[in-house]
Amino acid sequence: MSETKVTSPAIVRFAPSPTGRIHIGNARTALFNQLFAWQFDGRFVLRFDDTDVERSREEFAASIVTDLAWLGIKPDVVVRQSQRVALYEAAAARLRAAGRLYPCYETPDELDRRRKRQQARGLPPVYDRAALHLTDADRAALEAEGRRPHWRFRLDPGDVTWEDLVRGHCHADAGSLSDPVLVREDDSFLYTLPSVVDDLDLGITHVIRGEDHVTNTAVQLQIFAALGDGRPAPRFAHHNLLTTASGEGLSKRSGALSLTSLREHGIEALAVAALAVLTGTSAAVHPVASLAELVALFDLGHVSRTSAKFDEAELEVLSARTLHILPLAAIEERLAALGITRAAAIDLDAFWLAVRGNLAQLADARLWWQVVTGPITPLVEDADLLAAASAALPQGPLDGTSWKTWTDSLKAATGRKGKALYHPLRLALTGHESGPDLAALLPLIGPQKAALRLAGKTG
Ligand code: GLU
Repeated sequence: MSETKVTSPAIVRFAPSPTGRIHIGNARTALFNQLFAWQFDGRFVLRFDDTDVERSREEFAASIVTDLAWLGIKPDVVVRQSQRVALYEAAAARLRAAGRLYPCYETPDELDRRRKRQQARGLPPVYDRAALHLTDADRAALEAEGRRPHWRFRLDPGDVTWEDLVRGHCHADAGSLSDPVLVREDDSFLYTLPSVVDDLDLGITHVIRGEDHVTNTAVQLQIFAALGDGRPAPRFAHHNLLTTASGEGLSKRSGALSLTSLREHGIEALAVAALAVLTGTSAAVHPVASLAELVALFDLGHVSRTSAKFDEAELEVLSARTLHILPLAAIEERLAALGITRAAAIDLDAFWLAVRGNLAQLADARLWWQVVTGPITPLVEDADLLAAASAALPQGPLDGTSWKTWTDSLKAATGRKGKALYHPLRLALTGHESGPDLAALLPLIGPQKAALRLAGKTG
């Protein structure tokens, strides 16, 4: 997309607050950033917005790192806002010195009453900047009353514009906004200023975030201008937010869709990634066998400007369909963790190709591994047929053609065909009513175990 105009290298950031577990909607933001960084040879910064000491917890920061790694995201840099407060203080001091940050003493109640009066008079509820008119003596008197100031950023009037990489030309009239509070009474910072300070300090070139932040952008662009020493502000891209099929937004409290819980339920990370990235774009949601496929498909310009609804039920299906297309190389380590390894005398490539299409979850592979390695107890439905089958079993090693040769000769010998022939064989050879293609399973089971099972013996 030519419009993207990437300054090389792109430096992006994903900036969660570690106040809960991240969900599939956060995965969308994280992956958009990561895919973009990969596309433009860039770097991915993980920034923990942990200035809210009450709600931020180390365990959530750790779970975010784990969840991102599960998705396939390994940040190039990790920073924590709680360790960067000196930078924010220096920036606030600069803004104060420039007259852009001014002390205000109104209590929330006073502000509320003022807003109500404005509304009653048909005026927009914008902060009236009364505090700008306080004299030194007024301020001293207010402080003598025990009041502590909070600090607002004085916006420049006028239209703030930016070319959003998703939403196109955007603008906001700064004159219609309240001067935002950047520093609270207790000297702690709201999100607005630290985010800009970090974006400048870390050289962020593209801010890719949810459209719930569009309303912060005009303010932040003015702060970039005030602190940037002539450096350009990053490019912005505000993407639509994932909502459930019923249109509800996701929050850190919607635990079922947390990445941790999806992982624990055996959902494939690539299915989460495909759904998180492709929903609400011009590409259809479909399974992918690697993040590289998503890199090739991803384009901020193809993200819809309307909603991104997804159906939770789609995840399980997509997860199964993902397994069905994964090559062995992509799954071998995880199979080994299930005890399915090359060490056994089974052709692992052939095993994976035989069973992957039958898996709802990867853990189901264990069942078929048991079937091919044994022992299993056969189910004997038709002993006569099994005896004939045993007699007709090809001698020597079995291969991909053995099943057809064998069942053709059985058809001729017994007159059986279709289910009446195949089902008793399946029950005996696998101990299961249904499963992978027997032509592929038979060579994996091998002649000895097949003979035992056809004789009704555990093998
Ligand atoms: N901590 C903010 C959030 O989680 C980051 C917003 C941003 O990307 O600027 O929404």
